[in-house]
Amino acid sequence: MAYIPADHRYEGMKYNRVGRSGLKLPAISLGLWHNFGGINPAENSREMIHKAFDLGITHFDLANNYGPPAGSAEETFGKILAQDLKSYRDELVISTKAGYYMWPGPYGDWGSRKYLISSLDQSLKRMGVDYVDIFYHHRFDPETPLEETMAALDHIVRSGKALYVGVSNYKAEQTAEAIRILEQLGTPLIIHQPRYSMLDRWIENGLQDVLEENGVGSIAFCPLEQGVLTNKYLKGIPADSRAASSSVFLTKDKITPEVLRKIHALNQIAASRGQSLAQLALAWVLRNGKVTSALIGASRASQIEENVAALNQLEFSQEELDRIENILKT
Ligand code: NDP
Repeated sequence: MAYIPADHRYEGMKYNRVGRSGLKLPAISLGLWHNFGGINPAENSREMIHKAFDLGITHFDLANNYGPPAGSAEETFGKILAQDLKSYRDELVISTKAGYYMWPGPYGDWGSRKYLISSLDQSLKRMGVDYVDIFYHHRFDPETPLEETMAALDHIVRSGKALYVGVSNYKAEQTAEAIRILEQLGTPLIIHQPRYSMLDRWIENGLQDVLEENGVGSIAFCPLEQGVLTNKYLKGIPADSRAASSSVFLTKDKITPEVLRKIHALNQIAASRGQSLAQLALAWVLRNGKVTSALIGASRASQIEENVAALNQLEFSQEELDRIENILKT
């Protein structure tokens, strides 16, 4: 069936400015790390992209290695784009990355100019696009001079293959250095993609200050801790969950009694706000305006619907924030 995007798609979404750049991102963005690979049912992937776009999610986040197999999430996205969204390219912000292992030999990993430029060329082919909106260096490379990696990002923008550049998983000091080098090159770093959730708050310890001082935005990945901060695991580990799947990134042993205690207590706060736990977790990530966008994943369209509805209740009372702090501290 031909897909026709919902007319009202921009009405319910909130769009936040990325740092001091001209770009805005939806408060909730969709990532294609899991559930969009060659091993996943294509019709479900397609349905999720449609649902997201209908709800005002204009930003889709990819990386060269998303799948499995690596590269196949970009291919899946490319097919959906060609089939359903071709005439909407200018309404989309597509990002991809390179920095983790992608192909054998010395040129398919880390942060050399050689790897980044050839990887992006491959990504563009897989997605069938001429450019991405944001290209990220996926992780800091301790061996390649940062000047080389940043010069590659600068070159990528100047050659028209990306409109903006970002970094992901860089620590505070590494980010400050990247900002300085890119500024000298004349291509600003506009965004950082760090992991951030109620259960992983490392960015509060330095990185957020660097981003704020330099007018750089942030998009928080795994805001639901891969599903742990949802109602999914409150009563055990369901067969159709990431923890029960073959994914090596969330294993059953991560759902400890301590985690369960926290999520049950947080779930009570969510209920008192008229929210689901997932909605509470997303509102919390966005609570103080420091995070531009919460980057969710999903395994079905209904999750995207539930998660976007978090935007109906973003305000927190001081008492709620204190109660949450107490739960997270224990
Ligand atoms: P989340 O923390 O949002 O977890 C998503 C998973 O949680 C879903 O796949 C689903 O898993 C479950 N879930 C989501 N919503 C609900 C709901 N309402 N109710 C119940 N379960 C729900 O994010 P991800 O870990 O998927 O990461 C999001 C994106 O972040 C990635 O796609 C990628 O773009 C980016 N990322 C970037 C990294 C980097 O290094 N830069 C690293 C990791 C991610 P289930 O299968 O159990 O239903």
